[in-house]
Amino acid sequence: MTSCMPQLRTASVFRMISSYEILMIAIYKKLPKTNCGACGVATCMAFALKVKNGQALISDCPHVAAEVTAEHHEAGPGPFSNFEQVAAALEKEAAALDFQETVEATGSSFRTGDGKESIAVRMLNREYVLRKDGLLENDLPCRDVWAKIIISDYLRKKGKRSSTGDLITLGHFPHTASHVKAFQANAEKKIIVRFGSDLPGLRQRSAELGGTETDGGVKADFSCRFDLLPHVQIYLSFWQSDEEFDADCKLLFDRNASDHIDIEYLAYLVERFVEALAGD
Ligand code: SF4
Repeated sequence: MTSCMPQLRTASVFRMISSYEILMIAIYKKLPKTNCGACGVATCMAFALKVKNGQALISDCPHVAAEVTAEHHEAGPGPFSNFEQVAAALEKEAAALDFQETVEATGSSFRTGDGKESIAVRMLNREYVLRKDGLLENDLPCRDVWAKIIISDYLRKKGKRSSTGDLITLGHFPHTASHVKAFQANAEKKIIVRFGSDLPGLRQRSAELGGTETDGGVKADFSCRFDLLPHVQIYLSFWQSDEEFDADCKLLFDRNASDHIDIEYLAYLVERFVEALAGD
């Protein structure tokens, strides 16, 4: 009986996460889907993620129907507040892992200090440290709910398949909903708008974010690889505008990335990556 408990807990956490993914899509469906940007983010999809994450209210979209806003206010924080419980459950599960075995599988680092073991893992060029008592950021308990969920899930997943070198877009992963394709197109568009005629600026910002210049097999004016997580890379290829062509950008991922991270989480990381690269 006792030996079944961790499995049952894992299953219930997965069920909870799935329900939150459904929740994000439910929020998205209530938005106008015009991607007008008036709420401060580039796409309705990104806004839905923020609402789900508790970082925005649905009423922050000035175009959402009044009855939808009223419905959300009446419902109160409801499932949104439970989102922290999901993060806490995953964090606890990750903390219970065999740390030595986990670092080998995940490309993270094993540390010991003060007699305590920990795992150091970089996400989007920022270091997080998982100890047996929880996840730390800058030596303080991590307050970023999404960081907790993604890092904990990445560590416990211990993806086994290594990189293939075969690069694909987000929308080409199996069972990817069509909204992910639109999401990626908007992410690329944001980079084009910001750096279309400023290749030196893109080069500098990429270096600041820890990017490594590489051709990635794609012939472009600028190509760079970034580690979203140790075994999850994003490849940016960029063509600056000239007299003949408009600027263009492609964001690609290794075909085996989904072995290491849930695709919805990968989409969220892309959103944060683009914000860090091309945000104001
Ligand atoms: S303001 Fe509303 S319609 Fe415009 S992008 Fe934001 S969520 Fe979408």
